Amino acid sequence: MTSVKLGPGATVGIIGGGQLGKMMAQSALRMGYKVAVLDPSADAPASATGHTFIHADFSDMDALKSLCEMSDVITYEFENINAEILHTLVGDYYVPQGAETVLTLQNRETEKQAVKNSGAAIVPYEKVESLDAIRAFIEEYSTPVIVKTATGGYDGKGQYLIESESELDSVEIPFEKSDFVVEKYIELEREVSLTVARSVGGQVVYFPLQENLHKDQILYRTIVPSRVDYTAQAQKETEKIMEALHFVGAFTVEFFVAKDGSLYVNEIAPRPHNSGHYSIEACNISQFDAHILSILDHEMPEVYLHQNAVMMNLLGADLDRLDEELFTHADWNVHIYGKTDRKPARKMGHVTVLTDDLEHTLSALGRDFVKETE
Ligand code: ADP
Ligand code: MG
Repeated sequence: MTSVKLGPGATVGIIGGGQLGKMMAQSALRMGYKVAVLDPSADAPASATGHTFIHADFSDMDALKSLCEMSDVITYEFENINAEILHTLVGDYYVPQGAETVLTLQNRETEKQAVKNSGAAIVPYEKVESLDAIRAFIEEYSTPVIVKTATGGYDGKGQYLIESESELDSVEIPFEKSDFVVEKYIELEREVSLTVARSVGGQVVYFPLQENLHKDQILYRTIVPSRVDYTAQAQKETEKIMEALHFVGAFTVEFFVAKDGSLYVNEIAPRPHNSGHYSIEACNISQFDAHILSILDHEMPEVYLHQNAVMMNLLGADLDRLDEELFTHADWNVHIYGKTDRKPARKMGHVTVLTDDLEHTLSALGRDFVKETE
C-alpha cells in the first residue's frame, strides 16, 4: 500500500457509527479532519458527530460508494463487512487497512488457523459441524469445552459451555445456521489484552498491557497496567501475528493466562477495542488517536501512561443504578455513547478513573456495584 499522508482538512470516512466510530470520529475531529459516517441506525451514537451522516445498510453498495466518494480515506469500526463489498471498496478507493486481514479475522476458524500458523500459542480447537465431532474432541481433550459460532459472535453471544459429555444430549447448537469451532475451556488465572497500532509505513506502537475482568462474558473492568506483567510475552506473540497478518490501524490481541502461567492468544479485534478505552484519559495518545494517525501514516509518539487506570463499562443495568450519581464523582471520566435503546446487557457507556492506588479504586468502584444486589 503506498503511503498517502493526509493533512488536516481531509475527510475520514467511517463505516459504522457505534461508540467505536464515534470515538474515532472525535479523535479525527480534534486533529482537524472532516468526518463522514455511515450506519444503518438513524440514531447511531456517531450519527451527529461528524460533518456528514449517511443512513444506510452496510450492504448498500451505492451508499458505501457515496461515503467513499466524499472521503479521502476509509476506515471501519464494523468488522463484519461482506467480503465482496470490501474487495470492491479496496479496489476503487483508499482503504489503507485493506481487506485480507479483516476478512481472515471475521471468522473464528480462519482467525484461529492464522494465529496457529503464525506460531503464536493458541488453545486447542477444532472446526465442528456436528455433535459427534464435539464428542470426538471431548474424547481427545476431555471436558469442559466451549463451542463458539465462527461468525457474528460478540460479548459471548453464540457460545455454548459444555461441562460434561452428557450435556450434549440436550444442547441445541444451530449447525445449519453457522459454522462452529469447539475449544478447550481452560481455567483462567487472568485475561489480558494488548492494544497496538501499526501505521501504513510499518511503525508499531504498543499500549500498556491491559488486565480484563469479565462478567457474564462481557468486559466489566479493565485495569492498567495489568497486575501480572506479561508485556514481553504478549508483545512477542503479537509480533508473530503481525508477521503472518498485515495490520494497519489500531487492533487488540486478547490473551488468556492459564493457571499454570502459560499465555494463549484468545482472539484479535482488527479495530479499536473496549479494553483500550482507558487510553483516552490515561495515555498521551488514545487508541483512537493512534488509529487515525496510523491509517493516515503519520508518525506516532511512543505511548506512555500518565497514571494507572481502571475502566468500567456501563451496561444498561449499571446505568439504571447509577443514573443519579453518574456525574457526582470527581474522579470519574464519564462517557455516555448516546444509544437511545437502553438494554440491561448493552454497552451504553464507560467510566475511566485515574488512580495512584489501583486496589483502593477497585474496591471503591466495587461498592458502587454492590447496589446490584440491594
Ligand atoms: P467474544 O467474541 O464474545 O468476545 P471470546 O472468545 O473472547 O468471545 O469469549 C468471551 C469470554 O468468554 C472470554 O473473554 C473469556 O472470559 C470466556 N472464554 C471464552 N473462551 C474461553 C476458553 N476457552 N476458556 C476459558 N474462558 C473462555
Ligand atoms: Mg472476546
